[in-house]
Amino acid sequence: MPVLWIFEDQLSPDLSTLPESPDAPVMMIESARAFGMFPYHPKRLTFLISAMRHFAAELEAAGRTVHYFHLKPAKYRDSLSAVRDVVKKTGCSEFWIVEPSEYHTRAWLDTLPKQLGITIRYFPNTLFLTDRAEFRTWARGVKSPVMEIFYRKMRDKHGILMDGPDPEGGRWNLDKENRKPLKKAIKIPPHKSFAPDEITKEVMAEVTRRFGGNYGSVDGFDMPVTRKQAKAALKDFLDHRLPKFGDYEDAMVTGEPFLFHSFLSATINAGLLAPLKVVKAAEKRYRDGHAPLNSVEGFCRQILGWREYVYGIYWAFMPGYRERNTRHSSRALPQFFWTGDTKMNCLHQSIGSVVEHGYSHHIQRLMIICNFATLAGLTPQAVNDWFLSMYVDSHDWVVTPNVIGMAMNADGGTMATKPYVSSAAYVNRMSDYCKNCHYNHKARTGDDACPFNYLYWTFLERFRAMFKGNIRMKMILANLDKIDPDEMKQMMQERKRFIEALK
Ligand SMILES: Cc1cc2nc3c(=O)[nH]c(=O)nc-3n(C[C@H](O)[C@H](O)[C@H](O)COP(=O)(O)OP(=O)(O)OC[C@H]3O[C@@H](n4cnc5c(N)ncnc54)[C@H](O)[C@@H]3O)c2cc1C
Ligand code: SF4
Repeated sequence: MPVLWIFEDQLSPDLSTLPESPDAPVMMIESARAFGMFPYHPKRLTFLISAMRHFAAELEAAGRTVHYFHLKPAKYRDSLSAVRDVVKKTGCSEFWIVEPSEYHTRAWLDTLPKQLGITIRYFPNTLFLTDRAEFRTWARGVKSPVMEIFYRKMRDKHGILMDGPDPEGGRWNLDKENRKPLKKAIKIPPHKSFAPDEITKEVMAEVTRRFGGNYGSVDGFDMPVTRKQAKAALKDFLDHRLPKFGDYEDAMVTGEPFLFHSFLSATINAGLLAPLKVVKAAEKRYRDGHAPLNSVEGFCRQILGWREYVYGIYWAFMPGYRERNTRHSSRALPQFFWTGDTKMNCLHQSIGSVVEHGYSHHIQRLMIICNFATLAGLTPQAVNDWFLSMYVDSHDWVVTPNVIGMAMNADGGTMATKPYVSSAAYVNRMSDYCKNCHYNHKARTGDDACPFNYLYWTFLERFRAMFKGNIRMKMILANLDKIDPDEMKQMMQERKRFIEALK
């Protein structure tokens, strides 16, 4: 009989291995290797470890034997001793594993048969809807594997928001309707909070003891850690936030990290919620007349489109993708990335939310944090490691394409044909951050000039040759041409001064 080895992001009863061998024992390891790979946010560690322990208890309640290895005993810290232990206890040396989501895990697993004398049989990872090999053939066979094309195929394949062969409402993508700032008094529903039970409290104490030196803390941990709680969190989002999700998807507001976002990424990534079920539940809200099309299409696109697409890109271009650095950026991360302690209010708010909650929403990640990282020439791999460390929903398959590809455009244009960069004008339009900032969002030069302004224009100037001939950059470069050479010179000096002071 085989042993079914389940990882921390495979906490689902729908795993392809489970029905194949109903009586087989399960092995789960709180791997010191996995949980110590980066200085992870204590809330991320608490979430994953507590969710693992709850899932193991569910399996046991359903009659499975679970060989579960806690992080604590030093002798199991390298996972290998845990595997040996299970082989000895069960007499089984064949392990069945659902394909791991991350490249380095698979590479490590490939070394085990020789090291430990075991055999491993892999099963498809049905927690994703994308077939890795099929995606790879497509992505490597075209000049530019555009998300929108993939997304339309996924809508059609899974029959989501379709009207026969056409998209519901006549358009595939309603993104243009989803860029409203939230400047008026609109009530923002609180996100659902789950009081830690005894298991979670124990994990919080253990994480604090072992990982208390990492940035962030377990204080206020209230995430769902079971399937039942994850479903309640989904229902809460569908009831209270989905209707306005679309309108305010890109908005940023002081003191409101979650706004109308779902805060479901960590639970979906851990396997507590199945992506297709989430998408279908959102579609039902549209069909029932409870939520408008722009919200539901926007939400489904994030999960059926972007989430699956980044997973496909990761597996199509790893290894190597993580090391890409088209512009050879090499600056170290400033210390304020770990604390949020900076006079730039947009970064202070966005990073502050990450330190507190292990979360900031998509536009803060893309248009504040990574926008800054790109303009300031921070090393993409250092930024990638920071995202991996600090977010509750981080896993290499999702962080790496989002950071190296989408956000920092360091992948040579595989994912995006132009960088997502902007000056303070965008930040001021989409948020209330600028009005309480030390800097002046209108000024491009002078003591109070917003760094986003001179960093943006000098970035375009420095990489002008790289962007020339890119049709999507034409208008931006035309605006760059209008800048007076003396002003550009001054902005270059401001940039130099700013960068030299960045620590
Ligand atoms: C630089 C950068 C780093 C990111 N790092 C992560 C990460 O570590 N983990 C992670 O799950 N997502 C990551 N994302 C994608 C996205 O920002 C988060 O999924 C989202 O903000 C999570 O919050 P939410 O659940 O409230 O999402 P919502 O705004 O409510 O969106 C719904 C769901 O769509 C999915 N989704 C949306 N956009 C993406 C995307 N670009 N890639 C993958 N899934 C997406 C998520 O599952 C999310 O829960 C990153 C994006 C950027 C630009
Ligand atoms: S003025 Fe500049 S630094 Fe300040 S919040 Fe606005 S964009 Fe950010």
